[in-house]
Amino acid sequence: MEKERIVIIGSGPAGLTAAIYAARATLDPLVIVGNQLGGQISITAEVENYPGFPEADLTGPDLVDRMYRQAERFGARFEYDEVVEVDFSKGSPFYIKTNAKEFEAEAVIITAGASPRRLGVPGEDDYIGRGVSFCATCDGFFFSGKDVVVVGGGDSALEEGLFLTKFANIVRVVHRRDELRAGPALKRRALNNAKIEFVWDTVVDEVIGNGMVTAIGTTNIKTKEKKQLDTDGVFIYIGHYPNSKFLEGQLVMDEHGYVIADEKMRTSVPGVFAAGEIQDSMYRQIATSVGQGCAAAMQCEKWLSERE
Ligand code: NAP
Repeated sequence: MEKERIVIIGSGPAGLTAAIYAARATLDPLVIVGNQLGGQISITAEVENYPGFPEADLTGPDLVDRMYRQAERFGARFEYDEVVEVDFSKGSPFYIKTNAKEFEAEAVIITAGASPRRLGVPGEDDYIGRGVSFCATCDGFFFSGKDVVVVGGGDSALEEGLFLTKFANIVRVVHRRDELRAGPALKRRALNNAKIEFVWDTVVDEVIGNGMVTAIGTTNIKTKEKKQLDTDGVFIYIGHYPNSKFLEGQLVMDEHGYVIADEKMRTSVPGVFAAGEIQDSMYRQIATSVGQGCAAAMQCEKWLSERE
């Protein structure tokens, strides 16, 4: 059993910020990275709204790299594994198990984030990596000169759809309503982009292929008309769910599995803090996750020093 002062579970903007603050407070934090350093921003094409970066060329992976190097410079340590089990029932020290190791931590900051939601239709899982993707940054290049579909009508769908226009011939945004959920800036850019077409009031019933994706089956929910839409790729951006399965029965959560935390980022267990999308279904911005990660580390430091 390895003994730690603070374990940070997750390495997105909230986790890396908590690591920077905890390391600068000489608390020697250990970050358990999860399945992807940087979390969702590591698969985000363009970051336009994170303050301090006015240039148009900031990518998600660039920002992850900067935050990671900053945390490392102050002494944060990184464990490249996933947490599979925790036991918070006996209070501090808390038990944490990864695939490879077991830890005991005096305090814990949970920043495990959220994951892309799936459509749950036939063919979707079978064609992941063979035309179905949740990451335009990772896979956009493979669709140079091809036709792609983006599913969803939120900011992610439009932002990533716009990114895909750099490669694809045509980007068809398939949305289940006739009104976009996305904010005005992205909406304007997408509606004015000659390479983007909208397929309104339409849901995807099926992903079709012959080893690689060739089409999607769709239904127009107003007319009930069913159609096959030929495409080489399907990029799915229909929201997220919190990565909180390993916390079930340990912390109070809402009905969607988001951890409940108060304004001091305290969860239902004293000494366990939560920040970022694991506990925020409303804002889900890099800037808000960074703020919450900072607050969690400051509160955690205070909690530890009051115990001593
Ligand atoms: P979102 O805002 O929840 O949008 C999800 C979209 O998918 C909605 O248009 C929704 O349709 C659709 N959808 C949901 N379930 C579906 C299903 N089963 N089948 C078909 N369509 C479905 O998610 P998001 O776009 O990932 O954004 C998440 C948060 O991050 C938001 O707060 C967003 O503002 C933020 N974000 C911001 C930026 C930016 O500011 N640059 C970029 C990316 C994300 P309905 O509209 O009908 O519900």
